[in-house]
Amino acid sequence: MNRAQDAIKKIVIVGGGTAGWLAAATIGNIFKNSQLQIELVESDDIGVIGVGEATVPPIINILSSLGIDLAEFVKATQGSFKLGIKFDGWSQQGKSFFHPFGSLGRTINDYDFFQCWLKCRAEGDNTPLMAHSPEAVLAEQEKFFIPFEAQNTPLARVLYALHFDASLAGKFLRKFAEGIGIKRTEGTVEQVNQTEDGTIAAVTLKSGQVVTGDFFIDCTGFRGLLIEQTLATGYDDWSHYLPCNKAVAVQTENTGATLPYTISSAKEAGWTWRIPLQHRTGNGYVYCDKYVSDEQAKRTLLESVDGKLLTEPRVIPFTTGMRKQAWVKNCLSLGLAQGFLEPLESTAIHLVSKSIAYFIQMFPSRHYQPALVEEYNRRIAMDYQEIRDFLVLHYCTSQRDDSDFWRWCRSMKIPPSLQYKMDYFKASGKAIVSHEQLFQSSSWYAIYQGMGIKPNSYNPTLDLWQPEKLQAILDSGKQGLIEIAAKQPSHDEFLVKYCQAPE
Ligand code: FAD
Repeated sequence: MNRAQDAIKKIVIVGGGTAGWLAAATIGNIFKNSQLQIELVESDDIGVIGVGEATVPPIINILSSLGIDLAEFVKATQGSFKLGIKFDGWSQQGKSFFHPFGSLGRTINDYDFFQCWLKCRAEGDNTPLMAHSPEAVLAEQEKFFIPFEAQNTPLARVLYALHFDASLAGKFLRKFAEGIGIKRTEGTVEQVNQTEDGTIAAVTLKSGQVVTGDFFIDCTGFRGLLIEQTLATGYDDWSHYLPCNKAVAVQTENTGATLPYTISSAKEAGWTWRIPLQHRTGNGYVYCDKYVSDEQAKRTLLESVDGKLLTEPRVIPFTTGMRKQAWVKNCLSLGLAQGFLEPLESTAIHLVSKSIAYFIQMFPSRHYQPALVEEYNRRIAMDYQEIRDFLVLHYCTSQRDDSDFWRWCRSMKIPPSLQYKMDYFKASGKAIVSHEQLFQSSSWYAIYQGMGIKPNSYNPTLDLWQPEKLQAILDSGKQGLIEIAAKQPSHDEFLVKYCQAPE
């Protein structure tokens, strides 16, 4: 048992990007009535990466667990709501599909809805899968609402996430964290001081100030000042699975309606994102520089944006992969310091929060506890691998052959763990997922279906059903969705009303 004298008395968070402030807010909130001190050191000279504006549904729970009012957050960050991602030109040029959050249809007599849909397709029904997704139906109509207001309707199960301005979100989290007593120290860490066994004892700032602590959280971004430059944990480079290694980002003025989804459009050597906010649009091109120059990537991005430029295009290099160990001795890494998976499914901020949640579950004493460290690192690796496989699925199933990049993707060597899942899907029409994974079956079905990967069969026991009965259930669900979605406000109408809430 943790005895009081063994308890960690001070945590030092180095880095004040989204990762650092989210860690400060979450850990600070849990320990706000305790003796634990938290000090966050950040460098104004170095600054933050300033991208990271699309999220996945757990963001709503993160904000709620901190007691942050969603309307206040959306208003302060010029945010908008996100029902999923529209993928343009991924399977083939000119073809699109939607990856909605939330489930597709409902389980029918213990059968996965997707199985029932497959059976109806085999009987001649042409209804697209997305006609059974509440999020996709709302997105198609550019509608939005908050699900609890639609209790007892098919929209009650809608899952949504947020788009927000990364710099405003950072400021919001900082204000929140400072409000619960987190100490902020501005300064650039120049030296990391270790004890003989390599444990971190303190960091020394450029000013000469020494900041000591019992436990350190490295949120210094790609440089990984503590976890890599000091503790040399090593990096598993996954560029052979996900070869994109740069992004160019630019902000533009809004034109047209604020869409309740992100758009990801496949391009010659990668893909562009479009993230609609209330006050502007975030755009970027994620690409592999082996197939396109930075200048050409900038041109492609600028050709694909609407609206006046608000910033100059900025190139951000990255290496896809993860630290070999996310936690070493008394140092935990979070955010870009921990690893990076391209933002195709907007998973980075979620991984920060999930990592913090594991850390809280395994909260250590001041003494090194290898079993905690090992289990933490195992779980982080599983989460990264799960998301990596899901991202690779988008690339390796493409039928595009209009550029060297897409031809490479079509013949790429895929991770054995993904091959296993794809083989099983083809044989059974079912996804392999466990309940703690971020992407549940519906997400896998959406990508398989959207990318044109068809299973060989559905479960033959569905043939024991009368096809008309099954079809009637599917038809009534589909019709109900269209009707109820049509009654909801447009996303823009909703945003105006929602953000007008009194201060
Ligand atoms: P940073 O923002 O880089 O912050 C690093 C901090 O460390 C800064 O405060 C800096 O001052 C400090 N620091 C560094 N060195 C020192 C030092 N020596 N002394 C003191 N302080 C120091 N995520 C999503 O969830 N959704 C997205 O849509 C998304 N899109 C992305 C697009 C791109 C192109 C990229 C590259 C990333 C994207 N991400 C996205 C990831 C997301 O941006 C990051 O996960 C998130 O911003 C967290 O960054 P960070 O806090 O780890 O690092």
